[in-house]
Amino acid sequence: MNNNERVRTRFAPSPTGFLHVGGLRTALYCYLFAKQNNGDFILRIEDTDLERYVEGAVEVIYKTLAEAGMKIDEGPNEGGPYGPYVQTERKDIYLKYAKELVDKGAAYYCFCDKERLDSLKVNGIARYDKHCLHLSKEEVDAKLAAGVPYVIRQNMPTEGVSEFDDLVFGHVTIPNNELEDQILIKSDGLPTYNFANVIDDHLMHITYVMRGNEYLSSTPKYNLLYDALGWPRPHYIHLTPIMKDETRKLSKRYGDANFDDFVKKGYLPQAIVNYIALLGWSPKGEQEKFTMEELIEKFSISGLSKSSSIFDEAKMKWLNGEYIKELPFDKFMEYAKPYFDASIIKDKYDYNKFGKLLQSRIEIFSEIPEKVAFIEDFKQIDPEMYNNKKFKLDANIAKNILSEVIPYFEALKDWTEDSLHQATTDMATKLELKAGAVYTVMRIALSACLVTPGGSVEIADILGKAESIRRLKQAYSWL
Ligand code: GLU
Repeated sequence: MNNNERVRTRFAPSPTGFLHVGGLRTALYCYLFAKQNNGDFILRIEDTDLERYVEGAVEVIYKTLAEAGMKIDEGPNEGGPYGPYVQTERKDIYLKYAKELVDKGAAYYCFCDKERLDSLKVNGIARYDKHCLHLSKEEVDAKLAAGVPYVIRQNMPTEGVSEFDDLVFGHVTIPNNELEDQILIKSDGLPTYNFANVIDDHLMHITYVMRGNEYLSSTPKYNLLYDALGWPRPHYIHLTPIMKDETRKLSKRYGDANFDDFVKKGYLPQAIVNYIALLGWSPKGEQEKFTMEELIEKFSISGLSKSSSIFDEAKMKWLNGEYIKELPFDKFMEYAKPYFDASIIKDKYDYNKFGKLLQSRIEIFSEIPEKVAFIEDFKQIDPEMYNNKKFKLDANIAKNILSEVIPYFEALKDWTEDSLHQATTDMATKLELKAGAVYTVMRIALSACLVTPGGSVEIADILGKAESIRRLKQAYSWL
């Protein structure tokens, strides 16, 4: 890296819908690398493909970057010295440079109509044959004057090779005869991505271009444009894709995994960011949980992977669970409240009591409704449910325990977790049983479930005395 060069990266999404995980990861790496080098992180909206534009997509991009904790230095809303930062607002800029390239012989006007282009197709793919490159200046001027629709194409060399260095993929060499005379300016006067990215990256002083490796093979074309315009090439960092499995890429087109859906499912933004940072980048050492500050400090280009990574939701869930455990209780309750509100216990029980029970037992917030459902699920208990090898329990022993427990608990003055624990162990001593045996029988009798989040004391506390005694008596009658 040239020491005088200020590091500037850009995230350049096309506003075509939600921000999926791959896009967010590109943004994150751009952000981390810029911040690590005290540089600038720029947002540029690449909206020249009008057909793919989705209303509201820019707002989603902004909202997502904000929630994910990335601060934009320059962009459409922030402004900056090299704006505008929306490509359709820069239309005239591109045309000027396209004309400069035409004057230099690096590009040319093409007037071929659809019919002619179709006639070039082999197996459905047309490779342009440089037909219009051979028009004389007079012919071109006459067509332009007559208003014949045109595009501007890049004039690719037909011999030799193009070479460049990528910071992930190393030295890349591509034969020039593989490069097609791609369109730079479309017939609607707007630039293609292939042209606009070069012009904008240069004019916006971008020093490091980080993007998906689907652009790797086109990069020689961009380099030819930089060279023709006499501009320095940026450094390139191409990122391998995130896969949904061995063969399929995660894709926003197929409605896969976007940030917003994960947040709605009950993931914490920091956990999502932490997880996707590790999808394609390996830190040195064993650490798996990173704050944004730590990511900025530890991120390294050398840790970027050359092979694709598989998105593993179970792993992200686990990480999210670790984040949940560490939340201060009031923060946890803030996130949890909507899920309690949407659950069966809505307004019936003390949310805080459930919160204490669940904070260490869930990995994502959307597990809450199912995790609390047991409390209302009180239905006829099959006596077999009391069979327990560990505590040597069966239905008869359970019946015996309940017959002692019910009057004892009914007589309790205090109904707190402490007094309930005390009463349970007293009971065990009296019956000469392991405390676990009494806890287990009571837990099943109170909940009618074999598996519950929390034990008999927590459940009795949540239910309150009257309901607990009612359930214990009911359970006894079923034995
Ligand atoms: N607009 C392009 C995309 O969304 C950006 C590619 C780039 O970062 O240069 O794929």
